[in-house]
Amino acid sequence: MSYIIASACIDEKAADCVDVCPVDCIAEGPDQYFIDTDICIECGACEVACPVGAVYYDTDLPEDEKPYIAKAENFYKSR
Ligand code: SF4
Ligand code: SF4
Repeated sequence: MSYIIASACIDEKAADCVDVCPVDCIAEGPDQYFIDTDICIECGACEVACPVGAVYYDTDLPEDEKPYIAKAENFYKSR
């Protein structure tokens, strides 16, 4: 499992997370940023860096944020 960026990221896009990710696995999508879960090493740096609390470990995602798991998968599948 992995880290997931959820709704608080939409239209925020400060991208502090991108600057701290040691494996460069966060990419900009049309309305938010996404973590590539195949590359993420689960260091947690992005979760700490995000000023709006948009990053969750997937098992900690609130119920209404769970669709963001599939949204990230679809983003990377369609690249
Ligand atoms: S720091 Fe947070 S809000 Fe900003 S782009 Fe990254 S996940 Fe989105
Ligand atoms: S947990 Fe670490 S490796 Fe994974 S996206 Fe965040 S900063 Fe990058």
